[in-house]
Formats: sequence, structure tokens, C-alpha cells
Amino acid sequence: MTVTEEIKSRLDIVDVVSETVSLRRSGRNYAGFCPFHHNTRTPSFFVFPETQTWRCFGACAEGGDLFSFVMKKEGWEFKETLKNLAQRAGVTLEEADPLDRETRKAHNKQAGLLQAAADYFHQLFLYAPQAETARRYVAGRSLNEETIEAFAIGFALDSWDACRSHFNMQGTATRNCWPPGC
Ligand SMILES: [Zn+2]
Repeated sequence: MTVTEEIKSRLDIVDVVSETVSLRRSGRNYAGFCPFHHNTRTPSFFVFPETQTWRCFGACAEGGDLFSFVMKKEGWEFKETLKNLAQRAGVTLEEADPLDRETRKAHNKQAGLLQAAADYFHQLFLYAPQAETARRYVAGRSLNEETIEAFAIGFALDSWDACRSHFNMQGTATRNCWPPGC
């Protein structure tokens, strides 16, 4: 069963529609004034519990299921409707849509790059000959190894593009090595 099918099986379209459209029983179905077009004389809007669908037999002549009703009524996109109805139905949305996956992938990549850059500067601080003065200064401030490690204290070479060159040479930002380009 797909997630939309599960949501539909847990919610009753009659209940959902009744929240915004006043319905009255008409045989096996329910009828009311259509919320989507000017309709005040003869109820032209029907909800069919057996098929869990709705249809307007008046000017708009539209119809659909629970999802299309909520989308049209609220002016929501499918994604927003899915979220809302899943919550109401108590269904957990496990599978993120492809867009979310892509966004997450991009975030992970950025976090990875940031971590690699922090490591790069930290390694420079620990081992680069140019960082000797910095190491002495930090020692003079009585920062111990644990603190230096915990805050990943770094050192930048006197160069505006050393970090970029380092990663360019590496070809990837996921490996860490010292000296640069190894
Ligand atoms: Zn209508």
C-alpha cells in the first residue's frame, strides 16, 4: 500500500469535507453546496463514501479524491497536502521526496567540506614549521592539548589561497593528509 493509499484508508473523506462544507445525506451519498463555484440554490457538490471521492455536478464539473479536495480547498501543493493529511492520519512519512534527498546530500557535502577545512587548519597548527610561533603563543596561554584538540585550533598560512590549492591538489575534500597534496 502506498503512503497516500494508507492515509486515505485511515481518513474518511466525508469527515474531512464536512469540516468546511455542510453536507447532508442523499441516499448512499452526501450533498452540499459546491465550495469551488458560486452555488446557493441546488446543492451540486457530492461526496461518495464508497469510493471516497467527490464531484461537482455544477459549473466546475470537477471531482477527485481526498487529496485533490484538500489541495483545491486550501490552495496547497501536493507535498504540503501530503504532510498535513499524514499528520492527521497518524502516518509517518519515511520516504523523503527526491528534492529533500538532494538538499540533504548538498548539506552533507557542505558539512564535509567544512570539517575537512577545519582539519586542514588544525593540522597546520599542529605540524607546520610556519606555525611554530603560533604554537608557542598558545602554549604561553596555557592551553593544553585537550583544549587545542577540542576547539580544533588552527593556523592559516600567510597565503590567501593555500587552503583552496590544498584541496585542489587533493582532488577531493574528503581525504585529509599532510603535507598538502600527498
Ligand atoms: Zn462546483
